[in-house]
Amino acid sequence: MSVLTQTEIDRLATLPVPPGRLLIDGAWIEGSAAPMPVITPITGQQMTTIAAATEAEVAQAVAAARRAFDDGRWRKQPPAQRKAVLLRLADLIEHHANELAVLGVRDNGTEIGMALKAEPLSAAQTFRWYAEALDKLYGEIAPTADTVLALVHREPVGVVAAIVPWNFPLMIGAWKLAPALATGNSVVLKPAETASLTLLRLGELALEAGLPPGVLNIVTGTGATTGAALALSMDVDVLVFTGSGATGRRLMEYSARSNLKRVFLELGGKSPNIIFADAPDLAAAARAAAGGIFRNSGQVCVAGSRLLVEASVHDEVLHHLATVTRAMKQGNPLDLTTQIGAVHSEAQLARDLGFLSDATAQGGSLVLGGKRTLLETGGYYLEPTIITGVAPGHRLFQEEVFGPVLAVTPFSTEAEALHLANATDFGLASGLWTSNLSRAHRMIRGIRAGVVHVNTYGGTDITVPMGGVRQSGNGHDKSLHAFDKYTDLKTAWIQL
Ligand code: NAD
Repeated sequence: MSVLTQTEIDRLATLPVPPGRLLIDGAWIEGSAAPMPVITPITGQQMTTIAAATEAEVAQAVAAARRAFDDGRWRKQPPAQRKAVLLRLADLIEHHANELAVLGVRDNGTEIGMALKAEPLSAAQTFRWYAEALDKLYGEIAPTADTVLALVHREPVGVVAAIVPWNFPLMIGAWKLAPALATGNSVVLKPAETASLTLLRLGELALEAGLPPGVLNIVTGTGATTGAALALSMDVDVLVFTGSGATGRRLMEYSARSNLKRVFLELGGKSPNIIFADAPDLAAAARAAAGGIFRNSGQVCVAGSRLLVEASVHDEVLHHLATVTRAMKQGNPLDLTTQIGAVHSEAQLARDLGFLSDATAQGGSLVLGGKRTLLETGGYYLEPTIITGVAPGHRLFQEEVFGPVLAVTPFSTEAEALHLANATDFGLASGLWTSNLSRAHRMIRGIRAGVVHVNTYGGTDITVPMGGVRQSGNGHDKSLHAFDKYTDLKTAWIQL
C-alpha cells in the first residue's frame, strides 16, 4: 500500500464502478431482479448499480454455504492452511487499502482520513488477528471421576448469516467474517443496500486469497426481501447482525418463525459522555466530545451523542465545544483535510432534520448548526449541531439520531449523573471525565454499558470485546470472546 495522497484519491475517485453482482458458490452472477441504483452521498448522483437478490437466490447462496460446510472443503483444512488463506486475505486488503477506502467513501460518505484507518486497514488487522488466533483454540478435558474421560470439543456452528450496516461496512463485516471463517464456518453475507461495494470487492479478494468456493457468499439487496429471506432461512445456524434496534427485533421474530437460529445483535446506542467539574482538562474533554459525535457525521454506533455536564462548568465546556466544533472542516469526504463528511443518504438526512425540529419544539436550545449545508454539491450534509437543555423526557435524549447532533444535559451531583447516564433503554458505550479515581471506579461500576471510557472517548482495539447491553444488543464482536458466537461446545463422555 502506498501513502494515500490527494492526487491518488482524485484519480481513484474517477474510476468507473462496475455493476455489483452476487457471489454464490464461488461464481459472480447477475441477479435476476432489476438492479438497484447506488447513489453517492457526496453529490447525490448515481454511481453504479447492485444486484437485488431474490428469495430464490438467497436460498441458492445458503445451499452453497451448506454444501461447502458439509463436504469440509474449508473446515477440515488443517488450521495452519486456513490461517495462511486468511493472512493472504489480510495482505490483499492492505495492498488494496487505498482503492477500498476511496470506493467506500464514494459509497457511504465517511471522511477519507477516517475511512482509510477504520475500514480497509482495520479490516486487514482483524483478519490477521483471527488468522493468528485460530490455531491457538483448544478443547478441554473435564475434571471428572477417574472412571470417565470427558472431552469438550469446540466445533464450528455451520452456516452463518451476517447482516451488516452501512456506516463502516468493511470494519464491521470483518468483525463477523474473520472469526466465523477462522473457526471453519461457511458464511452468507448481506451488506447494507446503500453500502455494498467494498464488501463485494472483499469477496473478490477472498477468492484470490484462496478461500474455497461457497465458503463466502455475498447477497446484496434490500433488507425487506434479501435480508428477510436470509433471516427466515431454515438452513442458517447462526445469524449475526449489526444495525438498528427495529431490524434487530424483526430478526428475532424471523428466528422464532423459522428454525430458532441463534441471533446475535449489535444495535444502536445513545451513549452518555459525562464531564465532571474535576475533569483533568475541560478543553481536552470538549475536544474529545466534539470528535466523539461529529466524526463520520455522527454515524458511529458508539458516538457520544449525550453530553452530560456538571452545571458549574456547563458554560465553560459549551464555550470550548462551540469553538472546537466551529473549527472542524466540513466538506467533500474525499478531501484529505475534511473532518466532517456527508450524511449517508437523503433519507437519513431527512430523519436527522426531523429530530432537530422535535428537539427545539420540546424545549431544547440550538447552540450551533441545525441546518442542511453544502447544497450546491447536490450531496447530503448537515451542520454539526449542538442542542442544550435536553431533558430525559425529550426524544433527543432517548432516541438514536445517528447524525451529527449532540444533546447536552446539565447535572449537579454524581448520583444525578449516574441516573441520567442510565436513563435510556440503551447500553452501548459511555465516557466520563474526572480526576477522582474513586469516582471513576464508582461510575464504571454503575454505568450500564458495554464500554466505559475514562478521560478519553472512543478508543478501542481488536483485543477488547465490542457490544452492548440492554437494548443495544447481545453477544460481542472482536477479541477472543467473538469465537463463542461461531463455535458450539460438544461433550464426548467416555466410560473407561
Ligand atoms: P438497519 O437495521 O436499517 O440495516 C442494517 C442491515 O439490516 C442492512 O443490511 C439492512 O438491509 C438489513 N435489514 C433491514 N431490514 C431488514 C429485515 N427486515 N430483515 C433482514 N435484514 C434487514 O440499520 P442501518 O441503518 O444500516 O444502520 C444503522 C444502525 O446500526 C444504527 O442504529 C447504529 O447504531 C447501528 N450500528 C450498531 C453498531 C454496533 O456495533 N452496535 C455498529 C454500527 C451501527
